[in-house]
Amino acid sequence: MSNKVVKFGGSSLADAKQFLKVADIIRSDSQRKYVVPSAPGKRFSDDIKVTDMLYSCCDLAGSGIDFSESFAKITERYNGIIKDLGIDFSLDEEFESIKAELKSRPARDFAASRGEYLNGKLLAAYLGFEFVDAGDIIVFDTNGNLMLDETIKRTRERLSKTEYAVIPGFYGKTTEGIVKTFSRGGSDVTGSIVARAVNADIYENWTDVSGFLVADPRVVENPDVINMITYKELRELSYMGATVLHEDAIFPVREAGIPINIRNTNKPQDDGTMIVSDDHDFNDETVPHTITGIAGRKGFSVINIEKAMMNSEKGFGMKVLKVLCDNDISFEHMPSGIDTMSVITDTESIKSVEDKIISQLRKEVNPDNLEIEHGIALLAVVGRRMKNTRGTVARLFASLAHARINVKMVDQGSSELNVIVGVNESDLNEAIRKIYDMFINSEKD
Ligand code: ASP
Repeated sequence: MSNKVVKFGGSSLADAKQFLKVADIIRSDSQRKYVVPSAPGKRFSDDIKVTDMLYSCCDLAGSGIDFSESFAKITERYNGIIKDLGIDFSLDEEFESIKAELKSRPARDFAASRGEYLNGKLLAAYLGFEFVDAGDIIVFDTNGNLMLDETIKRTRERLSKTEYAVIPGFYGKTTEGIVKTFSRGGSDVTGSIVARAVNADIYENWTDVSGFLVADPRVVENPDVINMITYKELRELSYMGATVLHEDAIFPVREAGIPINIRNTNKPQDDGTMIVSDDHDFNDETVPHTITGIAGRKGFSVINIEKAMMNSEKGFGMKVLKVLCDNDISFEHMPSGIDTMSVITDTESIKSVEDKIISQLRKEVNPDNLEIEHGIALLAVVGRRMKNTRGTVARLFASLAHARINVKMVDQGSSELNVIVGVNESDLNEAIRKIYDMFINSEKD
């Protein structure tokens, strides 16, 4: 039997108007059987998410301060939705027991999880679906790590008994029965787990954008939507800061080859972005351009090391990396020449240990020249089609050269799925725009 798991983010369930859209979407397709909601999110830009309101209540409770006024704002949010939907339903009993629990045992994960719990109850009542508590099926070990196999087993068993259900996102329980949440935005992960457990045909992730964009809309005006992307490509772009989906939401469905479809609750007519397995058989229609996406991130530093005859010195690279490792620094890239080696790390983590690293490197590898340069941005040009297209790198650098952008570093992964380019932070946005022009706009002409 076909089925779809549908997850709705906080902005999709922020008020009754949004609930109506969500219900329309679910009811328009009887295969949309398992629904995973977030807590009510922002209705307008400086609104507060229910999850954040719950964290505040818990912090007040933890300091022994009366939180009833803050809690009343939460009950108002839900009661407002109930009233505007015009349904005969009440969460009053739940409100009372949550308040009592927060008073006696103010635990942050428990507090935050109640946003999804209450919204799940409300949505289930509105749709006429069964409510299945995530605390009964999503299991963490006592260190707070997700127990995926056990979770899938329990979820599969429980959901085999119900055809249409609402399962709140974001939380589960430890084997000792203590409520535990994923990191922020974690309802995406719950949706992915449920999709895997019921072996869904598709995992639809409904949000407030029509999918992943080829480039950041704050940099490129009105960029195209990516209609299809592989998990691997997505990983490359997300690493550079393109965020629509929680990073941990990929692995449960990826293993089972279940596609994820990012959709827009406010524009259900849009197809959104389809995230598919790496061996997906593409045709030209789904791959309109040579590249799939461009993303960039500031805040990198480069450690440049120079030493004559470095290439023949055994263990040179190992010693350099050991110094970084001993200082708890991970590295992002390591382009090298015959007598030079550069290690790129993120500036934030290296700042406090910079002097220490320099003196340790001097001692360990005795370089001719050693310097650390800050203010570097990396940009990734990602695309599965680059591999079979000649001249991609030439076009990429031509676009940057014409704009007089100095390229500081280049790294083409051996998979030929991406090219990473290092530029000065001040050149990043212009570089992205030029690459977009070269590969997207000019390919349309
Ligand atoms: N409500 C949680 C958050 O705000 C989880 C989620 O929305 O996915 O992070």
